[in-house]
Amino acid sequence: MLEDIMRRHILTLESYTSARDEFSGEAEVYLDANENWKDFSSQGKNRYPDPHTIRLRRMIEKVLGFKVENTVIGNGSDELIDMLIRIFAEPGKDSILIERPTYGEYKVFAEINGVDVLDVPLTDDLDLDVEGIKRAIDEKRPKIIFICSPNNPTGQSYDIEKIKAIADYNPCLTVVDEAYADFDPSFISSYTLLRENERVAVLRTFSKYWALAGSRIGVLIASPLVIKAVNKIKAPYNVSLSAQEDGCDALERADERKAVLEEILSEKKRLEEELKRFSFVKRVYHSDANFILIKVDNADELYSYLMNHGIIVRNRSREPLLENSLRITVGSRRENEKLLEALSEREKGLIS
Ligand SMILES: *Cc1c(COP(=O)(O)O)cnc(C)c1O
Repeated sequence: MLEDIMRRHILTLESYTSARDEFSGEAEVYLDANENWKDFSSQGKNRYPDPHTIRLRRMIEKVLGFKVENTVIGNGSDELIDMLIRIFAEPGKDSILIERPTYGEYKVFAEINGVDVLDVPLTDDLDLDVEGIKRAIDEKRPKIIFICSPNNPTGQSYDIEKIKAIADYNPCLTVVDEAYADFDPSFISSYTLLRENERVAVLRTFSKYWALAGSRIGVLIASPLVIKAVNKIKAPYNVSLSAQEDGCDALERADERKAVLEEILSEKKRLEEELKRFSFVKRVYHSDANFILIKVDNADELYSYLMNHGIIVRNRSREPLLENSLRITVGSRRENEKLLEALSEREKGLIS
């Protein structure tokens, strides 16, 4: 049961009730929240935002299909990662499990919270080591298994059957971070597993595909008990009025994002092909996301070279299995062209 794996005091915790909780209808005069009556913004920014982000969650259900009772919004998905760790893992006692190389925040938030981090590294072809993970579950019983699919920084998404096998075997929570799922039109979300397994949770973000990294909007999709626990511990006004409106606006104009997606996907294909031509590029990894991981002869040197040409990529060479690897975001046609020009120049320099 889900209650049995949560920290005891979270279950009994009595959370803060805000003015917006105690009265949630429509009224003519609001004198309950000590706000300034004067609206300098003419957009209602003098008032506290909806703590339950109900309009945004309804839009998410309508456009993305995640049911309102299964969602809660975070100040970016990073806040949700932190809250999940705090709900399930007891400091100094419990652990979480990750599969490196992967997104760095799971480990950082666990460490901040005094929670141990178990690592079952990816296999040599950067896939999940399902047997290794099962063994770690038997031996250490981690409170949360984080699976990032498509994975950052490798770009590959994992077979949903493998994720299902892990989630079914895991007696605790399995969180699938799908930050890049929107970039793969054929992606199957682990949301489909939630119907039969209440210990599955999914993370989505508006920071990538939805082009709202600055607004800070993350979505947790989970069983109602997990949603309830997050609502208990979250700050009541964790998502600003502007962010809630930005999110709704993006979903209302979803077709505009679709058009940019087409462009990103064709640019990714072009970049993949062009990158393979350079003699110093040893490998171009398959990507289901909006970035490409490449292995090169000397990543530190190439990183500095590009930086000196005003182009910043991510050097992931210090990650396990990723020696001499750079992660490159697919940019606009013009930006990608700049990158390819700089690389061609380097190639010429190497030949002459
Ligand atoms: C970028 C990214 C996020 C996004 O975090 P936000 O706080 O929503 O901006 C989450 N997970 C992964 C794997 C990412 O790469």
